Amino acid sequence: MLEFFKKKQVGPSKTVSEKRIKDFQEIYNSFSNDQSIDQASRCSQCGIPYCQIHCPLNNNIPDWLKYIAEDRLEEAYEISSSTNAFPEVCGRVCPQDRLCEGNCVVEKAGFGSITIGSLEKHITETAWEKGWIKPIVSSKKQNQKVAIIGSGPAGLAAATYLIEYGYDVEVFEKNDRIGGLMIYGIPNFKLDKSVVIRRHEWLKESGVIFHTNCEVGKDITFDDLEKNFDAILISTGVYKARSLDLNTKKVNNSVPALDYLIESNRVGLGDTPSSNLNLNAKNKKVIVIGGGDTAMDCVRTAVRQKASDVICLYRRNKENMPGSAREVENAEQEGVNFKWLSVPSEIIQQNDIASSLVYKIAELGEVDESGRRSPVDTDIKETLNSDLIIEALGFQPENINEKFNTNLNLTGWGTIKVDFNKFQTSNPKVFAAGDIVRGASLVVWAIHDGREVAKTIQHYLENKKIKKAS
Ligand code: SF4
Ligand code: SF4
Repeated sequence: MLEFFKKKQVGPSKTVSEKRIKDFQEIYNSFSNDQSIDQASRCSQCGIPYCQIHCPLNNNIPDWLKYIAEDRLEEAYEISSSTNAFPEVCGRVCPQDRLCEGNCVVEKAGFGSITIGSLEKHITETAWEKGWIKPIVSSKKQNQKVAIIGSGPAGLAAATYLIEYGYDVEVFEKNDRIGGLMIYGIPNFKLDKSVVIRRHEWLKESGVIFHTNCEVGKDITFDDLEKNFDAILISTGVYKARSLDLNTKKVNNSVPALDYLIESNRVGLGDTPSSNLNLNAKNKKVIVIGGGDTAMDCVRTAVRQKASDVICLYRRNKENMPGSAREVENAEQEGVNFKWLSVPSEIIQQNDIASSLVYKIAELGEVDESGRRSPVDTDIKETLNSDLIIEALGFQPENINEKFNTNLNLTGWGTIKVDFNKFQTSNPKVFAAGDIVRGASLVVWAIHDGREVAKTIQHYLENKKIKKAS
């Protein structure tokens, strides 16, 4: 260990931009075993590991790095998977520059962080290859049933732990495929769909029952779930798009980011393209509005769909973007043009079609509640021609009580109100986790919530059994 003095930080090789924009393949290749040993041995085994402190899952990173460096990958996998239900997903999609790697002591000392995310991916991909990942067989049978509504990362992580604890688990998913945003939101070039499908198959083999095309409130009532299950977990995520507040009439070619990404992912999975041609960027001048990871997913998808021009408009500057710096760099390499400090002010349209977007140049003002400097409009206006506007302005929750015909306490933002220590809602039998509780957030936080809510559901169900027996 402590080799960071001698060995340089080397990430996994990346397909060159000219080649990678021709398809939707993942752009990062995997480490060879020798490379992984080399890179893991750079870790200084800190007494206070800031990498671990800043990992939402509190992964025991120093220990698994040590095992990799000693070529003891099976042990590394045991440790890594003890806190993370889907390490191969986090290794691919976490914004490591803001989490574990951004806080690595070696990074702070100016030597380049330990490449934690890529090593985490390497451990788990090796575990799959070598057959170390077996279907879960629980040592006990609880004879209690849990219904999970939604099959995104929070729901699937909870299912993983609950099946391990011995419960019967059924997942109700309104879409035709399992995975939530991991299957329909995140593009293939960041997370290959086979990675998500493999976990779905593994959970099925472990005994989780999946009901697809089954929307609670439509195809099955929430009441039915309450009658037939001992506990219910709501992990539906947040899908309602925030829209541009420009007092415009209907604009057919200004579309929400998620509609656009879902269509692209569906086509990639072999579905028939939708008849809505505004969901394809081919040969179009595209403007994506927003500065988060979803905006980066959109611009990079548009490049791969062979848009004639892709511009990202963001109201703050590069340093104050909420998304991962690595994703911005990838987008720049792929030919995306960024217009920083640009605030949309008007859509010029004829009939229902936008022909251009007017935006105001902003200056940076004071730091706002997000901790970033807020944009202040100037009166300088610019205009951009556009055939397609994609709005990546964040998500908000749908009204769960209306959808499910329930009466759960909600927060002022419309998310489900829970006791954060237990993820329990105002109905003690009903739990909620992931974005529907915390608002739109990272996959790794959803996995965290799935892990934690599984523990509290177990506690609740054990108490229920004890009460019944006494
Ligand atoms: Fe880093 Fe994410 Fe892995 Fe945690 S889960 S170690 S933040 S890549
Ligand atoms: Fe290793 Fe960096 Fe974590 Fe320290 S902070 S234990 S050097 S990965």
